[in-house]
Amino acid sequence: MVKVKRIYMFGEGTKEQKNLLGGKGANLSEMKTMGVPVPAGYTITTEMCTDYYANGGKNSDELLADMREYTKRLEEETGKKFGSDTDPLLLSVRSGARVSMPGMMDTILNLGLTDSAVAAMIAKTGNPKFVWDIYRRFIQMFGEVVQGVEYELFDNVLETIKEENGYKGDLELTAADWKSVATQYLAIVAKATGKPFPQDPMVQLEMAVNAVFESWDTPRAVIYRDHNGIAHHWGTAVNVQEMVFGNTGDNSGTGVLFTRNPKTGEKETWGEFLFNAQGEDIVAGIRTPLKLAEFAEVSPKIYKELTDILDNLEAHYHDMQDVEFTIEEGVLFLLQTRNGKRTGAAGIKIAVDMHEEGLLTKKEAVNSIDVNAIDQLLHPVFNEEAMANAEILTTGLAASPGAATGKIVFSSEKAAKIKDETGEKLLLFRKETSPEDIEGMIVCEGFVTQLGGMTSHAAVVARGMGKCCVSGCGELSINEEEGYMTINGVKYPELTPFSIDGTTGNVYAGTIETKDPEFSEEFQTILNWASEIKTLGVKANADNKRDAEQALKFGAEGIGLCRTEHMFFDEERILDVRRMIIADNTADREEALAKILPHQLKDFTELFTAMEGKTVCIRLLDPPLHEFLPQLDEVPEVAKDLGIKPEVLERTLETLHEFNPMLGHRGCRLAVTYPEISVMQAKAIIMAAIAVAKSGKVVKPEIMIPLIATVAELKYLKAFIKETADNLIAEAGIDLDYKIGTMVETPRAALVGGQVGEEAEFISYGTNDLTQMTFGFSRDDAGKFLKEYATKKIIPNDPFAAVDQEGVGQLVEMCTKNAKTSNPNIVIGVCGEHGGEPSSIDFFHRTGLDYVSCSPFRIPVAIVAAAQAELRNK
Ligand code: ADP
Ligand code: MG
Ligand code: MG
Repeated sequence: MVKVKRIYMFGEGTKEQKNLLGGKGANLSEMKTMGVPVPAGYTITTEMCTDYYANGGKNSDELLADMREYTKRLEEETGKKFGSDTDPLLLSVRSGARVSMPGMMDTILNLGLTDSAVAAMIAKTGNPKFVWDIYRRFIQMFGEVVQGVEYELFDNVLETIKEENGYKGDLELTAADWKSVATQYLAIVAKATGKPFPQDPMVQLEMAVNAVFESWDTPRAVIYRDHNGIAHHWGTAVNVQEMVFGNTGDNSGTGVLFTRNPKTGEKETWGEFLFNAQGEDIVAGIRTPLKLAEFAEVSPKIYKELTDILDNLEAHYHDMQDVEFTIEEGVLFLLQTRNGKRTGAAGIKIAVDMHEEGLLTKKEAVNSIDVNAIDQLLHPVFNEEAMANAEILTTGLAASPGAATGKIVFSSEKAAKIKDETGEKLLLFRKETSPEDIEGMIVCEGFVTQLGGMTSHAAVVARGMGKCCVSGCGELSINEEEGYMTINGVKYPELTPFSIDGTTGNVYAGTIETKDPEFSEEFQTILNWASEIKTLGVKANADNKRDAEQALKFGAEGIGLCRTEHMFFDEERILDVRRMIIADNTADREEALAKILPHQLKDFTELFTAMEGKTVCIRLLDPPLHEFLPQLDEVPEVAKDLGIKPEVLERTLETLHEFNPMLGHRGCRLAVTYPEISVMQAKAIIMAAIAVAKSGKVVKPEIMIPLIATVAELKYLKAFIKETADNLIAEAGIDLDYKIGTMVETPRAALVGGQVGEEAEFISYGTNDLTQMTFGFSRDDAGKFLKEYATKKIIPNDPFAAVDQEGVGQLVEMCTKNAKTSNPNIVIGVCGEHGGEPSSIDFFHRTGLDYVSCSPFRIPVAIVAAAQAELRNK
């Protein structure tokens, strides 16, 4: 039988053993081996926690025997004795799971103190004030944490003594005062538990270890694990460690620090220190700590010793460290180290600096970046101080990151008008948005919608524009006509100042100050390195020159999706678009289309020019036609503009009405009915390409047919497009390469990927629609019930935010494999919102896709995520 090792002395384990020893224990062991001054101690493994629960909440006799043995070893190492009445060994008992977990047990300090040990300590140190102080601390901590005595019961004792003596701070208490506190505490515990305070150190230790194991399953720990995706079976380790004292006098103290500034990444020791203090006095905020720089002035020698150790730790861990330390009578001890948490900006600066210092390779530097934190850098955020007083009114889906403030408006026209007149910052609040709202969305700082999920119109447009958006905000109700909205029954009239945070989904009343993003040199450096590493292409979803240029700045390698319908809503054009729709014969329709052509031509020429030398994939008209027609109440006005009778327009509206537009007459189905629309668009694309090519620039147009379910649809439309394009190119007498491909976004198209591969030169997965149709969840309505699904853990992640690898992913995998088999030259990418989401990018990389395409402001995230996917899956 293999002998189970239940306990590790510090120095016996390594930093890699976090699963077994917990993060704290593994690093304490590692530091010990490195020769860093760490008080002696041992770690009881996480397996013992699992055992404890398997035994029905009891430690095995074997573990208890081992604890006695290892405590003996600790006595040998320290030369002190547990329970001795001359030189007692005092211990701290510290919990420590694989990942640091607030919500678990508080550390117990000074364990091993008993009435007789107190006498021995006083004799040894000649410092009764200190000894009575640590005894009262121990009794209180042990009472509260291990024995469950209500903390209020201890409350008055200290206050009364301070009041009676007119003391301002704890440091003024005398030995006699502390003795009185300790004695009263002993009585409080005895009364509350019905038993005298335990005077056997070994009993204290066993009780404390039990309490740590018990704390693994307290409700707050369970809730924390649920929120943070930590497995419930991991268990916690227990660290038992010799005490060192920062509170013996002015020659002692305790501190916490980061080896670099965790906010900015600046290379400086950053932290706080308190003279004559123990453990959590710093955190408790009873006294104002010194900045480390001040400490350096007072104790330059120890400070130097400390910074030497910190350099050593950074060099060893290749990462910024978060360190706890204590100084006892001028002697320095480290009590903890771990990789420090940092802001997105700090993470990037630290990675680049550490590469320059030779601590990280470029690959390691890129890998160290928290890709989700990159978003913080690209969008405005709320000023931290300003956040302190902000009250959250309601929370929706965090649909597009960033923070914004402005006065609320409920319609796009109103927004455009007010902006025009006053130039004020505005926020658009609507039930939902549609392409008609574009104008208003352009002038507003951010959007909130009552309905809609992560891929609703508002969400997609916001991400494209780099603006913030909160969608699916169910507690909101808007009365556009009367110009107010209500949130949980409270009314807010139009133009009330509000603030919204698309990173958290929070909505606030009032104006909270925001900070604009700054792009550092280091940020660009990381993007360059990531681009060198990654193999997956990163393109942009962009419909206009402005977005294309933004995308290029961030490093886009092409446009993976240009949605042409966005070009149709422009005020100048919509009338011709509507003429095209109401036409009841091909001739009229072609006449209207001929008027739209020059607009499209201009747009495409601009895009090709901006994207010189890079691929530009243009999707043919996709939305159902009724989206371009006015609402019923606007019919008379629009009919007048069109020079037709209102009845004619109404009839068109009726004919176009669909019960289920998402599954209706849209995508290639439109084009099958009216091939002349595709012909016009193909003409505009190729004519633009020819014009740009003639100006001496390289153009790589791709024409994408949306929403096919069968390969016959693709074949049918391809013939029209090919004929149009080839004729134009022949006429122009130049060489021009173009590609015709399709979107795979219906499950059926994915199922016949092999056939699609034979006809298409490229495939782009439209994973928004593919997710909608595979789950049968409406993109625009799923927001309402997906929250519930998340809390009930039915579908833990919104499948519109991160691709569902198990289901939708299977379709992608199968289609890719079959399409590549039938056409080895086919280029395959993704242009759904998932193209900018890290876990989805990892999946697409593994599936062998050629590129992902995402909104311009997601490109930096996608580049770093693609590089990390490459490194992870080597
Ligand atoms: P947390 O996980 O909450 O940081 P720790 O186990 O690190 O808890 O303990 C909190 C604090 O208690 C430490 O920062 C340190 O100041 C103090 N402490 C823990 N162990 C010892 C010890 N052996 N000697 C002196 N102080 C200690
Ligand atoms: Mg700690
Ligand atoms: Mg689609």
